[in-house]
Amino acid sequence: MKFIVEHLINGKRSSEVGARQHDVYNPATGQVTKQVSLASKTVVEEAISAAEAAFPTWSNTPPSKRAQIMYRLKYLLEENSDTICRMITDEHGKVYNDAKGELTRAIENVEFACSIPSLMKGEHTKNVGTNVDSWSEMQPIGVTAGITPFNFPAMVPFWMWPLAVAVGNTFILKPSELTPSTSIYMAELAHEAGLPPGVLNVVNGDKEAVDAILEDPRVQAVSFVGSTTVAEYIYTTGTANGKRVQALGGAKNHAIVMPDADMDNAVSALMGAAYGSSGERCMALSIAVTVGEETGDIITRKLSAQLEALKVGPGLSDNDMGPLVTRAHFNKVKGYVDLGVIEGAELVVDGRNLVVEGHDDGFYLGGCLFDKVTPEMKIYKDEIFGPVLGVVRVETQQEAMDLINAHQYGNGSCIFTRDGESARFFTDNIKVGMVGVNVPLPVPVAYHSFGGWKRSLFGDLCMYGPDGVRFWTLRKTITQRWPSSDVRAGASFYFA
Ligand code: NAD
Repeated sequence: MKFIVEHLINGKRSSEVGARQHDVYNPATGQVTKQVSLASKTVVEEAISAAEAAFPTWSNTPPSKRAQIMYRLKYLLEENSDTICRMITDEHGKVYNDAKGELTRAIENVEFACSIPSLMKGEHTKNVGTNVDSWSEMQPIGVTAGITPFNFPAMVPFWMWPLAVAVGNTFILKPSELTPSTSIYMAELAHEAGLPPGVLNVVNGDKEAVDAILEDPRVQAVSFVGSTTVAEYIYTTGTANGKRVQALGGAKNHAIVMPDADMDNAVSALMGAAYGSSGERCMALSIAVTVGEETGDIITRKLSAQLEALKVGPGLSDNDMGPLVTRAHFNKVKGYVDLGVIEGAELVVDGRNLVVEGHDDGFYLGGCLFDKVTPEMKIYKDEIFGPVLGVVRVETQQEAMDLINAHQYGNGSCIFTRDGESARFFTDNIKVGMVGVNVPLPVPVAYHSFGGWKRSLFGDLCMYGPDGVRFWTLRKTITQRWPSSDVRAGASFYFA
C-alpha cells in the first residue's frame, strides 16, 4: 500500500482516503512513490465551509498579530529548509540547489507579508470639505483560493497565500497533483507558527476540485498559475461566476543577443536560463534571437561547447539539470524535438539519447539546441517547457523586437548588449511584462509584482507585491462628518 498524500482542512490532515487517487512519481527513478487523493466536490465544500467559519475572527485579528505569525513562519521555513528542498526534488526532479533557490523566493514573500500593518495603512485626507474627513481602507475579501502548477511546488503557492491571509482573508490552496507534498508540509508549518485552523486549507485534486472552487459562490477571489489553456478557462469561468480572478499562463521567452554583447556572459546566462530546472520554468529562455550572422555563429558554437559539459542526473547528486517531471511530459518535449527536425530546424545538440547510468527509468532528456529556427515553425510558436533552446537569426534589433511583439506570449524577455541606447529602446518598446537588460531571468523580487502581458496573464493585476495587496483586498472609501449643534446644514440639492 503506497503512502497517500491527503488534504489539510481546518488545521487537520484528513484521514479519509477518497475514491480517486493519482500516482506521484520520483522523476529521477521513474518510480511511483506515493499517491495523492483527488478531492471530490464534497471535500472542497468542506474546506470552503472551514474557511468561511474562520473568516470573521481572522479578518478582525489585528494585522500586527497576523504579521507575527508570518515572522514565526519565516523562521520555521528556514529551520526546515532541507526537508522542504528534498521534498521538492523528490517530486519535481529539479536539482537540490535550485530547490533551495525556489525556497528562498518563497520565503521572500513571507518577509513581504510581515510588513502587512504598514502595507494596509490606507490613505487619509482631513477636511475634504469643511469639517468633513475622508479615508480609504483596504478590507479583506472573504474566502479566497489559489490553484498552482507543478513546476514551483513551494514558491508559487507562496506567491499567493501568505499575502492573502496576511490581509485577513481565509484561503483554499489547490496544488498540482504532480507535486503535492510540499504544500501540505508548509501549511503544517504555518499552523505550527500560530495560524488558526480554517484560515489556510489545502485540498489536493484535479479538475473536479478546481471546478468546485470556481462554482462555489462563497469563494470571492481566485488566483491561478499554470498553462495558458487552463488559465483562460479559469479566468472566463471564475469571472462569469462573479469572482475576482488573476490567471497567469504560459510563456515563450526570447533573449536578444546584440553583436556588441559580452558573448561569454550572454552564453553563461543563456545556459542557466534555458536549461536550469530542465527548462520547466515560466521564465525560462527558450528562444535566442541573434542579431547578425557572426553573432549567431558565436552563440551557437559556444552554447554547443557548454552543453557538452552539462551534467544531467538525479537532483540530489551534484548535477546541473535533473529529469523532467513525468514520462508523459518527457514524451511531449521529446516529440517537439522530433518535430523540430521534421520542420527543418538544425539540431546542433541532440539530447534525446542521453543515458543516466543506474537510472534507466528516470525521465531524463539531455539539453537540446536548435539553430536556424524560423517563426513559422511550431517549435517557435509553442511553449515546449523542456530543455530545448532555439536560435533564430535576424539582421537588426528592430526585426528581433518585432518577432517578440508579435508572439502570443509576453511573459519575460531580455537583451544582451553593451549599448545603453539599444537597451533603453528595448525596455521602452518591448511588449512583455518582465524585462531584463543583461539579466536573463528578470523575476521581480517579492516587493515588486510578477506578471506577463498578452496570453501570459488574464486579469488586471499582477501576482504578489503591491499588486498582490490590491488583488487580495477591497478598497473602501469613507467620508465622515460629525454635525455640531451650532452648525446644522439644511438639505442640499447640488454638489458644492
Ligand atoms: P497546468 O495548467 O496543467 O496545471 C495547473 C493547475 O491547473 C494544476 O493545479 C492542475 O491540477 C489544474 N488543472 C489542470 N488542468 C485543468 C483543467 N482542465 N481544468 C481545471 N484545472 C486544471 O500547468 P502545469 O503543467 O502544472 O504547469 C506548467 C505551466 O504553468 C506552463 O505552461 C508554465 O508556463 C506555467 N507557469 C506559468 C507561470 C507564470 O507565472 N506565468 C509560473 C509557473 C508556471
